[in-house]
Amino acid sequence: MNIAMNERMMTGALTFEKIKYLLLLDDKADIAKLIEKARQKRDTTIGNKVYLRGLIEFSNRCAKNCLYCGIRASNSNVERYTVSDDDVIEAAMFALKNKYGSIVLQSGERSDREFTSHISSLLQKIHEATGHNLRITLSCGEQSEEVYREWFRLGAQRYLLRIEASNPELYKKIHPDNENHSYNRRLRSLKTLIDSGFQTGTGVMIGLPFQTIDDLINDLIFIRDSGVVMVGMGPYVEHAETPLYEHRGKLLPAEKRVELTLKMIAILRLMRPTINIASTTALQTLDENGRELGLRAGANVIMPNITPVLYKKEYDLYEGKPALHDEPDEVGEAIEKLITNVGCQVGWSEWGDSKFYSN
Ligand code: SF4
Repeated sequence: MNIAMNERMMTGALTFEKIKYLLLLDDKADIAKLIEKARQKRDTTIGNKVYLRGLIEFSNRCAKNCLYCGIRASNSNVERYTVSDDDVIEAAMFALKNKYGSIVLQSGERSDREFTSHISSLLQKIHEATGHNLRITLSCGEQSEEVYREWFRLGAQRYLLRIEASNPELYKKIHPDNENHSYNRRLRSLKTLIDSGFQTGTGVMIGLPFQTIDDLINDLIFIRDSGVVMVGMGPYVEHAETPLYEHRGKLLPAEKRVELTLKMIAILRLMRPTINIASTTALQTLDENGRELGLRAGANVIMPNITPVLYKKEYDLYEGKPALHDEPDEVGEAIEKLITNVGCQVGWSEWGDSKFYSN
């Protein structure tokens, strides 16, 4: 491998061809070089701080049927729950006391008024209980502009809405073909979120059946050009109780999906040095050191799961999700060690807004 060539491919504007070259790197030393370059880029632009988002999976009730998802509405094996307001507030207080700085409220997607009003009321209760000291991210799917604006007004500063696959054809293959799962509607929702003032995040799954390298390159270009300031990308992890499972024979081995995810994180860090990039739980599912590897590749956000233990195991998006039985405080300690072990600092009690957004 020509080293000069390699360096050139990692610098300057990352074109389609350069991204392809980097994604196809196969030599371990070359991949290590890409990852090191991304880590340096992060450290020299936004620093080596890693921010904590306490993840509260407050309801697994969902009206949709994404073909890859374990908690899809049609999966009757899932015991449905909604965490009580008191327990959500307790989890938020846990995050505050343990200096997490921010929380993410995540649920299945529903757009009925009972649900949207419940979120509005939760936002108010959490801010009241925590003295407005926590940033709140919502991850509750596609909603009307009116609902997004109401939640923003009530103090949800950030919103995560993953596109999952930016190629409309691939999107169609992993979602039912109906208006409720429309690619264009999802795109419009992303734009509405950005226009409503949210720090908006998106992300994709890596290693899906039917996905090509060109799809992944276009995912990175989509993310770069979409105006989002936060990204969560993880390897696709199959779930036996989903329709997509029948295509598991087409999947790359788990370690290759992890490697591809790390390259995606590293390349994105080079393309957008100041955005927030999460090292996701899905990475940890396929490799017990997955989140550390994500941080080494340039990620700067970790989302410890602080859902009350009673409910955690029913938020089963994919198989093998880790830490299902951990008490939240054990997760917290493990996270601190994880971050310092990879040469980063913990952004204790910091909101950790994306510098890309601030700028
Ligand atoms: S991915 Fe989200 S919207 Fe789709 S079925 Fe799962 S929880 Fe529901």
